[in-house]
This record gives sequence, C-alpha cells and structure tokens, in this order.
Amino acid sequence: MTQLPLRAQLASALGRTAATLSRVTGRGDGSVIGGRVGLVLEPDLLRQLARDRKLALVSATNGKTTTTRLITSALLELGEVASNAFGANMPAGHVSALSQNKTAPYGVLEVDEKYLPEVLDTTGADVVCLMNLSRDQMDRAAEIWLLAQKWRRALSGRPTHVIANCDDPLVTWGASTAAQVTWVSGGQRWKEDSWCCPECGGPLERKDNDWACRECTFHRPEPHWVLDDDAVVDPRGQRWVLDIQLPGLANRSNAVMALAVAEALDLPVQRALPRLREVTSVAGRYTTVEREGRQARLLLSKNPAGWLEAFDVADPALPIILSVNAQGPDGRDTSWLWDVDYRILRGRPVFVTGERRLDLALRLEVADVPFQLCATFSEALAAQPPGRVDVIANYTAFQQIRSEFGRAV
Ligand SMILES: [Zn+2]
Repeated sequence: MTQLPLRAQLASALGRTAATLSRVTGRGDGSVIGGRVGLVLEPDLLRQLARDRKLALVSATNGKTTTTRLITSALLELGEVASNAFGANMPAGHVSALSQNKTAPYGVLEVDEKYLPEVLDTTGADVVCLMNLSRDQMDRAAEIWLLAQKWRRALSGRPTHVIANCDDPLVTWGASTAAQVTWVSGGQRWKEDSWCCPECGGPLERKDNDWACRECTFHRPEPHWVLDDDAVVDPRGQRWVLDIQLPGLANRSNAVMALAVAEALDLPVQRALPRLREVTSVAGRYTTVEREGRQARLLLSKNPAGWLEAFDVADPALPIILSVNAQGPDGRDTSWLWDVDYRILRGRPVFVTGERRLDLALRLEVADVPFQLCATFSEALAAQPPGRVDVIANYTAFQQIRSEFGRAV
C-alpha cells in the first residue's frame, strides 16, 4: 500500500488523538470527532484513505449495521478489514474507521442513504450493497423516491459492481443505472412504500416476491441469488443452508446480501458462510442481558419496517417490553407509531416504557392491545416473572438500556 501524503498522515494522526481524548473524557466512542478533526485538516482525507483498498459500501433503511458486520466478518477470511462497526455512517465516521486500520487491504463501510452518492464519488468503491428503502421518522415516501433517484445518478457511468435486493422495487430502480448489478432476492417485509412504480407512477402488480408495473415495462429482474426460507440458492443453483446465529428472516436476508458481496470480492460461499455463523450480536442487538433471574433479549427498531422485523424475531410465547423515546436520533415526532400494526401483540403480556410511553400507550389502546405502563425499563424488567423476555426499543431507548448494562455487546 502506498504511503499517505504528509498532510493526510498528520490529519489522520491528529484525528486519532482527538478521538482518544474524546474517549478518555467520556464524550462517546470518539469515532466521529476524530474523523471531523481529520476532515477539517485535510478535506481530501477520505479519498486518500480509501485508495488502494478493496472497498464495499452498504446502504439501506434497515439492516445496514448488521450487514456491514456480516460482510466484515466474511472478509476477515481474506485479510484485515477496516470498518465503521459502531454505526458512525457519515464521512467523519468513515475517515475514522479507515484511519484506525490504515494497512487493511479491505474496507467495509456502512453509509447513510443520503450520503451514499457523496461517499461513492469520493471513495470510488468497488462494490455497493443496496438492500431496502422505506419511510422512517424523517423520510416519507416522496423523499425516499428522491433518494433512489440520487442513487441512480451516482451509479450511472461508473464501473462499480452493485449488489441489490430486487424484491424491493425502489432499490431495483435506484440500482438499475449501474453498469454491473448482481440481483438478490432477499424478500421485502414492508411493502407500504412500494405500491407505485418508481419509473412511471403506475400501479405495481405483486405476487409473492415478484412484481411488475401494469403500465410500463419496469419489472423485477431475474435474481442471481435467492433466499429460500433458511437457505440460499447461489448463482450456480447450489443450495446452502444458512444456519446463522442472528435471529429472524431479516437477518437471513442480510446474510444472503453479505454472501453476494463476498463473492463479488472473490470470496466463495464455502469460505464466507462459516464466518457469518460466528456473528452472534451486532452493537448490542440480539444480546441477552440478565438481572435477577430475568433474561432480556434486546431488539432495536428504528422505523415502521424495523418494527415488523422485530415482531418476526420476538418469541410469541414470551412477554415483551416496548420502549420508545423521541430524542434527536429517534425523530422528535412519534406519528410513525401509527404506521405500525401492533395487533400481532394481542394475547401476550406487553409492558410499555420509555420517555414517550404515553404516545405508544395511546397507539396500543386504539389497536386493542392490553398493556402495562412502567416508568422505567428497570421497573418493566422487575415486573416480569423470572425467565426470558423480549425487548424492542427505538434508537436512544436502546442505547439507554445498553448503557444500564455496561454497553452490552
Ligand atoms: Zn411503470
């Protein structure tokens, strides 16, 4: 690997110092401040740090942290990998991740959907993995269509190899200007944002995972990789049982995306898959924490599609604690709670907590789901009989619970 120019070396080193200071003074994990300092000193730092590596970018509304982790785990089979493992997914976080591992021949970066064009342009990444697009607290349907349009422009005319989920019409549209696309049938749980053709606005006809526009020629491309229940069928028609430890259909879909990315970087399934099976939790997600005989499994859910994925993972035989906040990263407006169908929770003991528990309580009341209100997570946990319980929390609520248990990983 060639040496960084002197200015970039200095910027990178000072950024790392700032990150260390930030950590020791307890201001966070330091990855963002370090990258910011580096970028101020050398605006070209990200491009220089990305050069000479095999780089994959991962973007989606949901599952990007987990998929980034799965791809990283797979590529460790080939050598060192630099990655923003803790979800700092804007350029400052990318600078920090790449500076911390300057000699790694591989990089896997989770990228915020809005920053994807800029980061692709700066880094010239070899592979881009696109999984799903749906509304979250900030972005409604019209905004995600604009986002997909920006992806189209960014991908057009580049040699980048795109790995994209063809079961999501908007992702398919966003990816389809790329010169080379490997299509993955990874499923789509949340369909509420894709009843209209992104190309012409006409109605989409859907049958299982297949879809086509009734008014123009836009249709689902033939997938190269297919998620089939607990297995994947690769482009040669060979079937592999996934057998990963991360729970739920959404994670099996993430795993198939990861296998396709690995293959695009010359790592075959038989070597990648055992590495995916080693991943048991991702930045606290799916971790079980324990207190006084209660084992609580932590599920993160940041938007309507994320709630459906969490419901799929949650065990219907267990009680469930729901915790909702509305701080900056969660979105201040909780009206998105009304997009989610909570009736699936009927019949199990439901406990509601978090700073915006009353908003969620009203939503459950209307959906006719009985629940118990608790002032704090500790109170909700103490209200459980000894044994297992599932917890679904949105972003800052999740982080609060994690730190209460010493930043559970
Ligand atoms: Zn159409």
